[in-house]
Amino acid sequence: PSIAALDAELIECRACPRLVAWREQVAREKRAAFADQEYWGRPVPGFGDEHARMMILGLAPAAHGANRTGRMFTGDQSGDVLFKALYDVGLASRPTAVSADDGMELYGVRMTAPVRCAPPQNKPTPAERDRCATWLEAELALLAPTLRSVLVLGAFGWRSALTGFASMGWTVDRPRPKFGHGARTTIRRPRADDGTGASSTAAEELTVFGSYHVSQHNTFTGRLTPEMLRAVIRDAAGAAGL
Ligand code: SF4
Repeated sequence: PSIAALDAELIECRACPRLVAWREQVAREKRAAFADQEYWGRPVPGFGDEHARMMILGLAPAAHGANRTGRMFTGDQSGDVLFKALYDVGLASRPTAVSADDGMELYGVRMTAPVRCAPPQNKPTPAERDRCATWLEAELALLAPTLRSVLVLGAFGWRSALTGFASMGWTVDRPRPKFGHGARTTIRRPRADDGTGASSTAAEELTVFGSYHVSQHNTFTGRLTPEMLRAVIRDAAGAAGL
């Protein structure tokens, strides 16, 4: 299996009736407003380095951002804040992300989300979250050989990341570490000889970092400032050797 094969399968997923209806309704209604573009309106695959050392995990595509452009965090103000910070610390090739074909490159980083279809009010149900966890775990498994750190934006992604790794056999502290801005926890890889296929050359551990989400609710109010975001990105990049 490859990331490309996973993504090709993912974009055909129709497992959540409520989200399929919503993502397609938004695409239909808004297509006229963005007549010069193809409105994506489908599950959004991860974006970035296929051999990433660092992952950035959000929540779900925004209705008029990633659901429109088909690329994670691309096309809305939340994404603008994130890409600018990544560019500032040298992990992205451009300061702004406009569309899936804008030439943006990420260096050693892949961004993805625990829910791949835009949900109403940015709120997936627990059942939708659990259904989509299959895709997240498949992507984590493909990236696991090179992955050294995960930067999680928000409590929803934090829980999904720790649950996902635990169900893949990684050792995650109990009780589960709490989310917060600046939270971090180390999780340990399954041993190479335990049948899970872990590479013996991969690092034994990876560090999960928590950050407030880059939503406008946090960035407009100053709860998450550009300095705070750059600092936590630098921490996660440092742990990944980037
Ligand atoms: Fe499929 Fe995930 Fe979209 Fe549900 S949210 S339809 S599981 S891709």
